[in-house]
Amino acid sequence: MNRSNGDAPYYNLYINGQWRAPIAEQYRPTIDPSTGETLGMIAQADIEDTRLAIRAAREAFDDGYWPSMAPGERSRLLHALVDAIEARQDEIADAEMRDGGCTWRKAHLLDIPVGLIHFRHFAKLADMEPLEPVPQITFPALSYNFVLREPIGVCGQIIPWNFPFLMAVWKIAPALAAGNTVVIKPATFTPLSLLKMTEIIHETGLLPPGVLNVVTGPGQVVGPEICTNPMVDKIAFTGSTEVGREIMQQAASTIKKVTLELGGKSPNIILEDADLDLAVDGSLWATFMHNGQACESGTRLFVPASIYDEFLERLVDRASKLRVGLSSSGDTDLGPVISAGQLRTIEEYIRLGIEEGATPVLLGKRPEDPELQNGFFITPTIFTDVDNSMRIAQEEIFGPVLCVIKYDGLEDAIRMANDTIYGLAAGVWSRDIETAVSVAKRIRAGTVWINDYHMINAEAPFGGYKQSGIGRELGTWGLKEYLEIKHIHVPLNNERSGKFWFDIVAPRTSE
Ligand code: NAD
Ligand code: MN
Repeated sequence: MNRSNGDAPYYNLYINGQWRAPIAEQYRPTIDPSTGETLGMIAQADIEDTRLAIRAAREAFDDGYWPSMAPGERSRLLHALVDAIEARQDEIADAEMRDGGCTWRKAHLLDIPVGLIHFRHFAKLADMEPLEPVPQITFPALSYNFVLREPIGVCGQIIPWNFPFLMAVWKIAPALAAGNTVVIKPATFTPLSLLKMTEIIHETGLLPPGVLNVVTGPGQVVGPEICTNPMVDKIAFTGSTEVGREIMQQAASTIKKVTLELGGKSPNIILEDADLDLAVDGSLWATFMHNGQACESGTRLFVPASIYDEFLERLVDRASKLRVGLSSSGDTDLGPVISAGQLRTIEEYIRLGIEEGATPVLLGKRPEDPELQNGFFITPTIFTDVDNSMRIAQEEIFGPVLCVIKYDGLEDAIRMANDTIYGLAAGVWSRDIETAVSVAKRIRAGTVWINDYHMINAEAPFGGYKQSGIGRELGTWGLKEYLEIKHIHVPLNNERSGKFWFDIVAPRTSE
Protein backbone atom coordinates (compact mmCIF):
# COMPACT_ATOMS: atom_id res chain seq x y z
CA MET A 1 0.00 0.00 0.00
CA ASN A 2 1.52 3.34 -0.96
CA ARG A 3 -1.08 6.06 -0.89
CA SER A 4 -4.67 6.39 0.16
CA ASN A 5 -7.54 8.27 -1.35
CA GLY A 6 -10.37 9.08 1.02
CA ASP A 7 -11.11 5.95 3.00
CA ALA A 8 -9.97 3.31 0.54
CA PRO A 9 -6.27 2.49 0.57
CA TYR A 10 -4.59 1.99 -2.80
CA TYR A 11 -2.55 -1.16 -3.34
CA ASN A 12 0.19 -1.29 -5.97
CA LEU A 13 2.03 -4.00 -7.85
CA TYR A 14 5.05 -5.63 -6.22
CA ILE A 15 7.82 -5.88 -8.81
CA ASN A 16 11.56 -6.34 -8.30
CA GLY A 17 11.33 -5.68 -4.56
CA GLN A 18 9.39 -2.44 -4.93
CA TRP A 19 5.77 -1.30 -4.81
CA ARG A 20 4.92 0.43 -8.07
CA ALA A 21 1.86 1.94 -9.67
CA PRO A 22 0.55 0.23 -12.80
CA ILE A 23 1.69 1.92 -16.02
CA ALA A 24 -1.88 2.71 -17.08
CA GLU A 25 -2.78 3.94 -13.54
CA GLN A 26 -5.85 1.68 -13.41
CA TYR A 27 -7.30 0.53 -10.08
CA ARG A 28 -10.49 -1.32 -9.16
CA PRO A 29 -12.20 -1.82 -5.83
CA THR A 30 -12.12 -5.06 -3.88
CA ILE A 31 -15.16 -5.49 -1.66
CA ASP A 32 -16.35 -7.28 1.46
CA PRO A 33 -18.97 -9.83 0.32
CA SER A 34 -20.72 -9.60 3.72
CA THR A 35 -21.42 -5.89 3.42
CA GLY A 36 -20.54 -4.70 -0.09
CA GLU A 37 -18.10 -2.23 1.48
CA THR A 38 -15.03 -1.22 -0.56
CA LEU A 39 -11.91 -2.41 1.27
CA GLY A 40 -9.26 -1.06 -1.06
CA MET A 41 -8.38 0.00 -4.58
CA ILE A 42 -6.31 -2.65 -6.34
CA ALA A 43 -3.79 -1.99 -9.10
CA GLN A 44 -4.83 -3.49 -12.44
CA ALA A 45 -1.75 -4.66 -14.27
CA ASP A 46 -1.72 -4.77 -18.05
CA ILE A 47 0.57 -6.78 -20.33
CA GLU A 48 3.48 -4.33 -19.94
CA ASP A 49 3.34 -4.43 -16.12
CA THR A 50 3.20 -8.22 -16.24
CA ARG A 51 6.26 -8.29 -18.50
CA LEU A 52 8.19 -6.10 -16.05
CA ALA A 53 7.42 -8.58 -13.27
CA ILE A 54 8.44 -11.54 -15.43
CA ARG A 55 11.70 -9.82 -16.44
CA ALA A 56 12.49 -9.09 -12.77
CA ALA A 57 11.91 -12.74 -11.88
CA ARG A 58 14.05 -13.84 -14.86
CA GLU A 59 16.96 -11.61 -13.84
CA ALA A 60 16.73 -12.65 -10.20
CA PHE A 61 16.95 -16.25 -11.37
CA ASP A 62 19.64 -15.90 -14.05
CA ASP A 63 21.91 -13.35 -12.36
CA GLY A 64 20.95 -13.45 -8.68
CA TYR A 65 22.24 -15.62 -5.87
CA TRP A 66 18.85 -17.04 -4.83
CA PRO A 67 18.88 -20.23 -6.98
CA SER A 68 22.40 -21.23 -5.92
CA MET A 69 22.11 -20.31 -2.25
CA ALA A 70 23.07 -23.13 0.12
CA PRO A 71 19.93 -25.12 1.00
CA GLY A 72 20.44 -24.63 4.75
CA GLU A 73 20.71 -20.89 4.35
CA ARG A 74 17.61 -20.69 2.17
CA SER A 75 15.77 -22.80 4.73
CA ARG A 76 16.72 -20.45 7.60
CA LEU A 77 15.62 -17.45 5.56
CA LEU A 78 12.23 -19.02 4.79
CA HIS A 79 11.75 -19.86 8.48
CA ALA A 80 12.40 -16.19 9.27
CA LEU A 81 9.72 -15.17 6.73
CA VAL A 82 7.21 -17.51 8.40
CA ASP A 83 8.10 -16.05 11.81
CA ALA A 84 7.37 -12.57 10.48
CA ILE A 85 4.05 -13.67 8.95
CA GLU A 86 3.10 -15.50 12.13
CA ALA A 87 3.76 -12.40 14.23
CA ARG A 88 1.24 -10.47 12.13
CA GLN A 89 -1.20 -13.29 11.43
CA ASP A 90 -4.18 -11.28 12.73
CA GLU A 91 -3.82 -8.86 9.83
CA ILE A 92 -4.00 -11.75 7.38
CA ALA A 93 -6.96 -13.32 9.21
CA ASP A 94 -8.71 -9.98 8.87
CA ALA A 95 -8.04 -9.87 5.14
CA GLU A 96 -9.34 -13.46 4.79
CA MET A 97 -12.59 -12.60 6.59
CA ARG A 98 -13.25 -9.24 5.02
CA ASP A 99 -12.02 -9.67 1.45
CA GLY A 100 -13.02 -13.32 0.95
CA GLY A 101 -16.08 -13.71 3.20
CA CYS A 102 -14.38 -16.46 5.15
CA THR A 103 -15.91 -17.03 8.59
CA TRP A 104 -14.07 -16.18 11.81
CA ARG A 105 -13.73 -19.91 12.54
CA LYS A 106 -12.39 -20.80 9.09
CA ALA A 107 -9.84 -17.98 9.22
CA HIS A 108 -8.65 -18.50 12.79
CA LEU A 109 -8.95 -22.27 13.22
CA LEU A 110 -8.15 -23.41 9.69
CA ASP A 111 -6.62 -21.18 7.08
CA ILE A 112 -4.12 -19.20 9.13
CA PRO A 113 -2.72 -21.96 11.39
CA VAL A 114 -2.75 -24.51 8.57
CA GLY A 115 -1.11 -22.06 6.15
CA LEU A 116 1.65 -21.30 8.66
CA ILE A 117 2.29 -25.02 9.23
CA HIS A 118 2.43 -25.65 5.49
CA PHE A 119 4.83 -22.73 4.93
CA ARG A 120 7.06 -24.04 7.73
CA HIS A 121 7.05 -27.49 6.26
CA PHE A 122 8.46 -26.15 2.97
CA ALA A 123 10.97 -24.00 4.88
CA LYS A 124 12.15 -27.29 6.40
CA LEU A 125 12.15 -29.13 3.05
CA ALA A 126 14.27 -26.32 1.58
CA ASP A 127 17.17 -27.72 3.55
CA MET A 128 17.29 -30.67 1.20
CA GLU A 129 19.97 -33.01 0.00
CA PRO A 130 21.02 -31.53 -3.40
CA LEU A 131 21.58 -35.04 -4.82
CA GLU A 132 19.09 -37.79 -5.65
CA PRO A 133 20.40 -41.25 -4.83
CA VAL A 134 21.50 -43.30 -7.88
CA PRO A 135 22.68 -46.91 -8.03
CA GLN A 136 26.26 -47.60 -9.16
CA ILE A 137 26.29 -47.65 -12.95
CA THR A 138 28.49 -50.21 -14.78
CA PHE A 139 26.90 -50.35 -18.23
CA PRO A 140 27.55 -49.07 -20.84
CA ALA A 141 30.50 -47.67 -18.88
CA LEU A 142 31.75 -47.87 -15.32
CA SER A 143 31.09 -44.36 -14.13
CA TYR A 144 30.30 -41.93 -11.38
CA ASN A 145 26.77 -40.61 -11.82
CA PHE A 146 25.25 -37.68 -10.02
CA VAL A 147 21.62 -36.71 -10.16
CA LEU A 148 21.21 -33.11 -9.10
CA ARG A 149 18.05 -31.38 -7.94
CA GLU A 150 17.84 -27.90 -9.46
CA PRO A 151 15.16 -25.20 -9.49
CA ILE A 152 13.10 -24.95 -12.68
CA GLY A 153 13.39 -21.17 -13.09
CA VAL A 154 10.67 -18.53 -13.26
CA CYS A 155 7.35 -19.85 -11.94
CA GLY A 156 4.09 -18.20 -12.99
CA GLN A 157 1.38 -18.86 -10.41
CA ILE A 158 -2.34 -18.13 -10.60
CA ILE A 159 -4.67 -18.75 -7.65
CA PRO A 160 -8.42 -18.69 -6.84
CA TRP A 161 -10.48 -16.74 -4.30
CA ASN A 162 -11.73 -19.48 -2.01
CA PHE A 163 -8.58 -19.89 0.14
CA PRO A 164 -6.55 -16.76 -0.64
CA PHE A 165 -3.84 -17.19 2.01
CA LEU A 166 -3.55 -20.97 1.86
CA MET A 167 -3.39 -21.04 -1.94
CA ALA A 168 -0.70 -18.34 -1.91
CA VAL A 169 1.33 -20.41 0.58
CA TRP A 170 0.89 -23.62 -1.43
CA LYS A 171 2.34 -21.83 -4.45
CA ILE A 172 5.01 -19.52 -3.06
CA ALA A 173 6.48 -21.76 -0.33
CA PRO A 174 7.50 -24.80 -2.45
CA ALA A 175 8.64 -22.60 -5.35
CA LEU A 176 10.97 -20.59 -3.11
CA ALA A 177 12.06 -23.66 -1.13
CA ALA A 178 13.33 -25.19 -4.37
CA GLY A 179 15.18 -22.00 -5.37
CA ASN A 180 12.85 -20.68 -8.06
CA THR A 181 11.66 -17.12 -8.59
CA VAL A 182 7.96 -16.27 -8.72
CA VAL A 183 5.38 -14.12 -10.47
CA ILE A 184 2.06 -14.68 -8.73
CA LYS A 185 -1.41 -13.37 -9.50
CA PRO A 186 -4.08 -13.52 -6.78
CA ALA A 187 -7.76 -13.89 -7.66
CA THR A 188 -9.50 -10.65 -8.60
CA PHE A 189 -12.00 -10.98 -5.71
CA THR A 190 -9.41 -11.61 -2.98
CA PRO A 191 -6.07 -9.83 -3.45
CA LEU A 192 -5.68 -8.53 0.13
CA SER A 193 -4.32 -11.62 1.93
CA LEU A 194 -1.46 -12.02 -0.55
CA LEU A 195 -0.75 -8.28 -0.59
CA LYS A 196 -0.61 -8.26 3.21
CA MET A 197 1.70 -11.27 3.23
CA THR A 198 3.91 -9.58 0.60
CA GLU A 199 4.05 -6.40 2.67
CA ILE A 200 5.23 -8.44 5.67
CA ILE A 201 7.83 -10.29 3.57
CA HIS A 202 8.99 -6.99 2.02
CA GLU A 203 9.47 -5.42 5.44
CA THR A 204 11.77 -8.24 6.55
CA GLY A 205 14.14 -7.17 3.74
CA LEU A 206 15.27 -10.79 3.50
CA LEU A 207 14.32 -11.78 -0.05
CA PRO A 208 16.54 -10.56 -2.89
CA PRO A 209 14.62 -8.22 -5.26
CA GLY A 210 12.78 -10.00 -8.07
CA VAL A 211 12.51 -13.35 -6.27
CA LEU A 212 8.84 -12.71 -5.43
CA ASN A 213 6.67 -10.53 -7.67
CA VAL A 214 2.94 -9.98 -7.16
CA VAL A 215 0.78 -8.84 -10.04
CA THR A 216 -2.86 -7.98 -9.42
CA GLY A 217 -5.19 -7.49 -12.35
CA PRO A 218 -7.66 -9.12 -14.69
CA GLY A 219 -7.16 -12.88 -15.19
CA GLN A 220 -7.81 -12.61 -18.93
CA VAL A 221 -4.96 -10.08 -19.35
CA VAL A 222 -2.31 -11.05 -16.80
CA GLY A 223 -2.99 -14.81 -17.09
CA PRO A 224 -2.30 -15.28 -20.82
CA GLU A 225 0.88 -13.14 -20.62
CA ILE A 226 2.25 -15.29 -17.78
CA CYS A 227 1.27 -18.49 -19.59
CA THR A 228 2.76 -17.58 -22.99
CA ASN A 229 5.82 -15.48 -22.10
CA PRO A 230 8.98 -17.41 -23.13
CA MET A 231 10.81 -16.17 -20.00
CA VAL A 232 8.48 -18.21 -17.77
CA ASP A 233 9.48 -21.86 -17.22
CA LYS A 234 6.62 -23.26 -15.20
CA ILE A 235 2.95 -22.56 -14.56
CA ALA A 236 1.14 -23.58 -11.40
CA PHE A 237 -2.58 -22.91 -11.47
CA THR A 238 -5.44 -23.51 -9.07
CA GLY A 239 -8.91 -22.70 -10.30
CA SER A 240 -11.68 -24.02 -12.48
CA THR A 241 -11.27 -26.89 -14.93
CA GLU A 242 -12.47 -24.57 -17.69
CA VAL A 243 -9.67 -22.00 -17.17
CA GLY A 244 -7.20 -24.85 -16.50
CA ARG A 245 -7.88 -26.17 -19.98
CA GLU A 246 -7.12 -22.73 -21.49
CA ILE A 247 -3.94 -22.43 -19.44
CA MET A 248 -2.65 -25.78 -20.65
CA GLN A 249 -3.22 -24.67 -24.24
CA GLN A 250 -1.46 -21.34 -23.69
CA ALA A 251 1.49 -22.99 -21.97
CA ALA A 252 1.83 -25.46 -24.85
CA SER A 253 3.31 -22.82 -27.17
CA THR A 254 6.57 -22.78 -25.18
CA ILE A 255 6.26 -26.26 -23.56
CA LYS A 256 6.15 -24.96 -20.01
CA LYS A 257 5.95 -27.38 -17.11
CA VAL A 258 2.34 -27.23 -15.91
CA THR A 259 0.69 -28.25 -12.67
CA LEU A 260 -3.05 -27.79 -12.29
CA GLU A 261 -5.36 -28.08 -9.30
CA LEU A 262 -8.88 -27.88 -10.69
CA GLY A 263 -12.50 -28.53 -9.84
CA GLY A 264 -14.28 -31.42 -8.18
CA LYS A 265 -17.65 -33.01 -7.49
CA SER A 266 -16.52 -35.30 -4.75
CA PRO A 267 -18.49 -38.35 -3.58
CA ASN A 268 -19.05 -38.86 0.12
CA ILE A 269 -20.14 -42.44 0.77
CA ILE A 270 -21.97 -43.52 3.92
CA LEU A 271 -21.76 -47.28 4.57
CA GLU A 272 -24.53 -49.13 6.41
CA ASP A 273 -22.46 -49.55 9.58
CA ALA A 274 -21.37 -45.89 9.83
CA ASP A 275 -21.47 -44.10 13.18
CA LEU A 276 -24.45 -41.90 12.37
CA ASP A 277 -23.65 -39.08 14.80
CA LEU A 278 -20.23 -38.75 13.23
CA ALA A 279 -21.39 -39.26 9.65
CA VAL A 280 -24.28 -36.75 9.79
CA ASP A 281 -22.11 -33.93 11.13
CA GLY A 282 -19.24 -35.02 8.91
CA SER A 283 -21.42 -34.88 5.80
CA LEU A 284 -22.53 -31.34 6.64
CA TRP A 285 -18.92 -30.29 7.29
CA ALA A 286 -17.86 -31.97 4.03
CA THR A 287 -20.35 -29.92 2.01
CA PHE A 288 -21.05 -26.67 3.82
CA MET A 289 -17.59 -25.65 5.04
CA HIS A 290 -17.05 -22.25 3.38
CA ASN A 291 -20.47 -22.60 1.70
CA GLY A 292 -19.33 -25.45 -0.51
CA GLN A 293 -16.79 -23.11 -2.09
CA ALA A 294 -13.96 -25.63 -1.80
CA CYS A 295 -12.72 -27.71 -4.70
CA GLU A 296 -12.78 -30.90 -2.59
CA SER A 297 -16.28 -30.35 -1.10
CA GLY A 298 -18.22 -33.61 -0.67
CA THR A 299 -21.25 -32.45 -2.63
CA ARG A 300 -22.56 -35.87 -3.74
CA LEU A 301 -23.70 -37.76 -0.66
CA PHE A 302 -24.35 -41.49 -1.18
CA VAL A 303 -26.65 -42.99 1.47
CA PRO A 304 -27.69 -46.68 1.62
CA ALA A 305 -31.42 -47.40 1.28
CA SER A 306 -31.44 -49.37 4.57
CA ILE A 307 -30.67 -46.29 6.72
CA TYR A 308 -31.82 -43.62 4.30
CA ASP A 309 -34.87 -42.25 6.12
CA GLU A 310 -33.21 -41.95 9.50
CA PHE A 311 -30.02 -40.46 8.06
CA LEU A 312 -31.91 -37.90 6.02
CA GLU A 313 -34.11 -36.81 8.89
CA ARG A 314 -31.10 -36.12 11.07
CA LEU A 315 -29.19 -34.46 8.25
CA VAL A 316 -31.98 -32.01 7.38
CA ASP A 317 -32.67 -31.26 11.02
CA ARG A 318 -29.01 -30.29 11.63
CA ALA A 319 -28.65 -28.42 8.32
CA SER A 320 -31.72 -26.28 8.96
CA LYS A 321 -30.08 -25.05 12.17
CA LEU A 322 -26.88 -23.83 10.51
CA ARG A 323 -26.45 -20.11 11.16
CA VAL A 324 -26.02 -17.85 8.14
CA GLY A 325 -24.41 -14.52 9.04
CA LEU A 326 -21.64 -11.98 8.75
CA SER A 327 -18.20 -13.50 8.24
CA SER A 328 -16.84 -11.53 11.19
CA SER A 329 -19.14 -13.00 13.86
CA GLY A 330 -17.75 -15.90 15.83
CA ASP A 331 -20.91 -18.03 15.69
CA THR A 332 -21.50 -17.89 11.93
CA ASP A 333 -21.58 -21.30 10.24
CA LEU A 334 -22.14 -20.00 6.72
CA GLY A 335 -20.87 -16.58 5.67
CA PRO A 336 -21.57 -14.93 2.32
CA VAL A 337 -20.72 -16.46 -1.02
CA ILE A 338 -18.01 -14.61 -2.90
CA SER A 339 -20.01 -12.42 -5.30
CA ALA A 340 -23.37 -11.40 -6.68
CA GLY A 341 -22.58 -13.44 -9.79
CA GLN A 342 -21.84 -16.56 -7.73
CA LEU A 343 -25.10 -16.06 -5.81
CA ARG A 344 -27.05 -15.96 -9.09
CA THR A 345 -25.23 -19.08 -10.37
CA ILE A 346 -26.21 -20.97 -7.19
CA GLU A 347 -29.85 -19.89 -7.50
CA GLU A 348 -29.80 -20.95 -11.13
CA TYR A 349 -28.56 -24.44 -10.16
CA ILE A 350 -31.29 -24.72 -7.50
CA ARG A 351 -33.89 -23.88 -10.15
CA LEU A 352 -32.28 -26.40 -12.53
CA GLY A 353 -32.31 -29.16 -9.88
CA ILE A 354 -36.06 -28.70 -9.37
CA GLU A 355 -36.57 -28.73 -13.14
CA GLU A 356 -34.52 -31.96 -13.42
CA GLY A 357 -36.88 -33.64 -10.92
CA ALA A 358 -34.87 -33.51 -7.69
CA THR A 359 -36.69 -32.65 -4.44
CA PRO A 360 -35.42 -29.70 -2.38
CA VAL A 361 -36.08 -31.05 1.13
CA LEU A 362 -34.28 -27.93 2.31
CA LEU A 363 -34.60 -25.00 -0.08
CA GLY A 364 -31.97 -22.26 -0.05
CA LYS A 365 -33.25 -18.69 0.19
CA ARG A 366 -31.77 -15.24 0.61
CA PRO A 367 -32.08 -14.50 4.36
CA GLU A 368 -34.40 -11.70 5.47
CA ASP A 369 -32.15 -10.41 8.27
CA PRO A 370 -31.76 -6.64 7.60
CA GLU A 371 -28.08 -6.84 8.55
CA LEU A 372 -27.42 -9.17 5.61
CA GLN A 373 -29.10 -7.21 2.84
CA ASN A 374 -25.95 -5.75 1.28
CA GLY A 375 -24.06 -9.04 1.17
CA PHE A 376 -24.32 -12.20 -0.92
CA PHE A 377 -26.06 -14.65 1.41
CA ILE A 378 -28.05 -17.82 0.80
CA THR A 379 -29.22 -20.53 3.21
CA PRO A 380 -28.31 -24.21 2.58
CA THR A 381 -30.07 -26.45 0.07
CA ILE A 382 -30.41 -30.24 0.27
CA PHE A 383 -31.74 -32.12 -2.75
CA THR A 384 -33.05 -35.69 -2.55
CA ASP A 385 -34.29 -37.88 -5.41
CA VAL A 386 -31.09 -36.97 -7.19
CA ASP A 387 -29.95 -39.15 -10.04
CA ASN A 388 -26.16 -39.16 -10.49
CA SER A 389 -26.58 -38.25 -14.16
CA MET A 390 -28.40 -34.98 -13.41
CA ARG A 391 -26.48 -31.76 -14.07
CA ILE A 392 -26.71 -30.80 -10.38
CA ALA A 393 -24.84 -34.05 -9.62
CA GLN A 394 -22.26 -33.69 -12.39
CA GLU A 395 -21.39 -29.98 -12.43
CA GLU A 396 -19.48 -28.08 -9.79
CA ILE A 397 -21.93 -25.61 -8.20
CA PHE A 398 -19.52 -24.01 -5.72
CA GLY A 399 -22.30 -23.10 -3.32
CA PRO A 400 -24.15 -24.56 -0.28
CA VAL A 401 -26.04 -27.21 -2.27
CA LEU A 402 -25.93 -30.89 -1.30
CA CYS A 403 -27.13 -33.69 -3.58
CA VAL A 404 -28.23 -36.85 -1.75
CA ILE A 405 -28.20 -40.02 -3.83
CA LYS A 406 -29.78 -43.23 -2.48
CA TYR A 407 -28.00 -46.50 -3.27
CA ASP A 408 -28.67 -50.22 -3.10
CA GLY A 409 -25.49 -52.25 -2.58
CA LEU A 410 -21.93 -51.02 -2.36
CA GLU A 411 -21.07 -51.88 -5.98
CA ASP A 412 -23.76 -49.49 -7.09
CA ALA A 413 -22.38 -46.72 -4.84
CA ILE A 414 -18.80 -47.16 -6.08
CA ARG A 415 -19.87 -47.17 -9.72
CA MET A 416 -21.83 -43.91 -9.29
CA ALA A 417 -19.09 -42.33 -7.15
CA ASN A 418 -16.62 -42.82 -10.01
CA ASP A 419 -19.09 -41.73 -12.67
CA THR A 420 -17.80 -38.14 -12.94
CA ILE A 421 -15.19 -36.25 -14.97
CA TYR A 422 -13.55 -35.22 -11.67
CA GLY A 423 -11.32 -37.10 -9.24
CA LEU A 424 -10.08 -34.76 -6.55
CA ALA A 425 -11.33 -36.25 -3.28
CA ALA A 426 -13.84 -38.53 -1.59
CA GLY A 427 -15.13 -39.55 1.83
CA VAL A 428 -16.06 -42.98 3.24
CA TRP A 429 -17.86 -43.45 6.58
CA SER A 430 -17.83 -46.85 8.28
CA ARG A 431 -17.01 -48.51 11.61
CA ASP A 432 -15.19 -51.24 9.70
CA ILE A 433 -11.84 -49.78 8.65
CA GLU A 434 -10.95 -52.75 6.48
CA THR A 435 -14.07 -52.29 4.38
CA ALA A 436 -13.60 -48.52 4.30
CA VAL A 437 -10.05 -48.90 2.99
CA SER A 438 -11.17 -51.36 0.34
CA VAL A 439 -13.75 -48.80 -0.84
CA ALA A 440 -11.16 -46.00 -0.71
CA LYS A 441 -8.87 -48.01 -3.01
CA ARG A 442 -11.61 -48.29 -5.62
CA ILE A 443 -12.37 -44.56 -5.78
CA ARG A 444 -10.54 -42.75 -8.59
CA ALA A 445 -9.50 -39.68 -6.60
CA GLY A 446 -6.32 -38.10 -5.24
CA THR A 447 -7.42 -38.01 -1.59
CA VAL A 448 -9.89 -40.24 0.28
CA TRP A 449 -10.86 -39.45 3.85
CA ILE A 450 -12.23 -42.19 6.09
CA ASN A 451 -14.54 -40.95 8.87
CA ASP A 452 -13.25 -37.44 8.24
CA TYR A 453 -13.19 -34.73 5.60
CA HIS A 454 -11.14 -31.69 4.40
CA MET A 455 -8.10 -32.86 6.39
CA ILE A 456 -5.12 -31.73 4.33
CA ASN A 457 -1.65 -32.37 5.74
CA ALA A 458 1.65 -30.63 5.04
CA GLU A 459 3.38 -34.02 4.60
CA ALA A 460 0.80 -35.74 2.35
CA PRO A 461 0.14 -35.08 -1.35
CA PHE A 462 -2.98 -33.27 -2.55
CA GLY A 463 -4.17 -33.20 -6.15
CA GLY A 464 -6.54 -34.64 -8.69
CA TYR A 465 -7.13 -37.67 -10.87
CA LYS A 466 -8.91 -37.20 -14.20
CA GLN A 467 -10.03 -33.63 -15.01
CA SER A 468 -9.33 -32.44 -11.45
CA GLY A 469 -5.75 -31.71 -12.35
CA ILE A 470 -2.16 -32.61 -13.06
CA GLY A 471 0.54 -33.02 -10.41
CA ARG A 472 0.44 -32.84 -6.64
CA GLU A 473 0.90 -30.14 -4.02
CA LEU A 474 2.34 -30.47 -0.49
CA GLY A 475 4.94 -32.82 0.95
CA THR A 476 7.95 -33.98 -1.01
CA TRP A 477 5.58 -34.60 -3.93
CA GLY A 478 4.75 -30.89 -4.00
CA LEU A 479 8.39 -29.86 -3.83
CA LYS A 480 9.31 -32.17 -6.74
CA GLU A 481 6.96 -30.25 -9.01
CA TYR A 482 9.32 -27.27 -8.59
CA LEU A 483 12.55 -29.14 -9.33
CA GLU A 484 14.38 -30.10 -12.49
CA ILE A 485 16.49 -33.23 -12.35
CA LYS A 486 19.96 -33.22 -13.95
CA HIS A 487 22.09 -36.26 -14.63
CA ILE A 488 25.90 -35.79 -14.67
CA HIS A 489 27.99 -38.69 -15.97
CA VAL A 490 31.73 -39.06 -15.27
CA PRO A 491 33.47 -42.17 -16.69
CA LEU A 492 35.92 -44.02 -14.45
CA ASN A 493 38.11 -44.91 -17.43
CA ASN A 494 38.11 -43.69 -21.01
CA GLU A 495 37.44 -46.97 -22.81
CA ARG A 496 33.99 -45.94 -23.74
CA SER A 497 34.44 -42.22 -24.37
CA GLY A 498 34.09 -40.71 -27.85
CA LYS A 499 37.37 -42.30 -28.97
CA PHE A 500 35.95 -45.83 -29.01
CA TRP A 501 33.65 -44.89 -31.86
CA PHE A 502 36.69 -44.45 -34.11
CA ASP A 503 38.87 -47.27 -32.79
CA ILE A 504 36.55 -50.22 -32.93
CA VAL A 505 36.09 -52.04 -36.22
CA ALA A 506 33.02 -54.19 -36.48
CA PRO A 507 33.77 -57.86 -37.24
CA ARG A 508 32.66 -59.04 -40.69
CA THR A 509 29.72 -61.38 -40.68
CA SER A 510 30.50 -64.67 -42.44
CA GLU A 511 28.32 -65.47 -45.43
P1 NAD B 1 -11.21 -19.37 -12.03
O1 NAD B 1 -10.71 -20.51 -12.83
O2 NAD B 1 -12.30 -18.57 -12.56
O3 NAD B 1 -10.02 -18.36 -11.68
C1 NAD B 1 -8.83 -18.81 -11.09
C2 NAD B 1 -7.76 -17.79 -11.38
O4 NAD B 1 -7.49 -17.75 -12.78
C3 NAD B 1 -8.09 -16.36 -10.97
O5 NAD B 1 -6.93 -15.76 -10.44
C4 NAD B 1 -8.48 -15.73 -12.29
O6 NAD B 1 -8.29 -14.33 -12.29
C5 NAD B 1 -7.53 -16.41 -13.25
N1 NAD B 1 -7.96 -16.42 -14.66
C6 NAD B 1 -9.19 -16.20 -15.16
N2 NAD B 1 -9.17 -16.31 -16.50
C7 NAD B 1 -7.90 -16.62 -16.84
C8 NAD B 1 -7.26 -16.89 -18.08
N3 NAD B 1 -7.91 -16.85 -19.24
N4 NAD B 1 -5.94 -17.20 -18.07
C9 NAD B 1 -5.27 -17.27 -16.91
N5 NAD B 1 -5.82 -17.01 -15.72
C10 NAD B 1 -7.13 -16.70 -15.68
O7 NAD B 1 -11.58 -20.02 -10.61
P2 NAD B 1 -12.15 -19.29 -9.33
O8 NAD B 1 -13.58 -18.97 -9.64
O9 NAD B 1 -11.26 -18.23 -8.84
O10 NAD B 1 -12.04 -20.47 -8.26
C11 NAD B 1 -12.96 -21.49 -8.20
C12 NAD B 1 -12.47 -22.74 -8.90
O11 NAD B 1 -11.20 -23.13 -8.41
C13 NAD B 1 -13.35 -23.93 -8.68
O12 NAD B 1 -13.56 -24.62 -9.90
C14 NAD B 1 -12.58 -24.80 -7.71
O13 NAD B 1 -12.91 -26.15 -7.74
C15 NAD B 1 -11.19 -24.52 -8.11
N6 NAD B 1 -10.27 -24.78 -6.99
C16 NAD B 1 -9.48 -25.88 -7.02
C17 NAD B 1 -8.61 -26.17 -5.98
C18 NAD B 1 -7.75 -27.40 -6.01
O14 NAD B 1 -6.82 -27.48 -5.23
N7 NAD B 1 -7.99 -28.35 -6.87
C19 NAD B 1 -8.52 -25.30 -4.90
C20 NAD B 1 -9.32 -24.17 -4.89
C21 NAD B 1 -10.19 -23.92 -5.96
MN1 MN C 1 -13.14 -9.12 -1.97
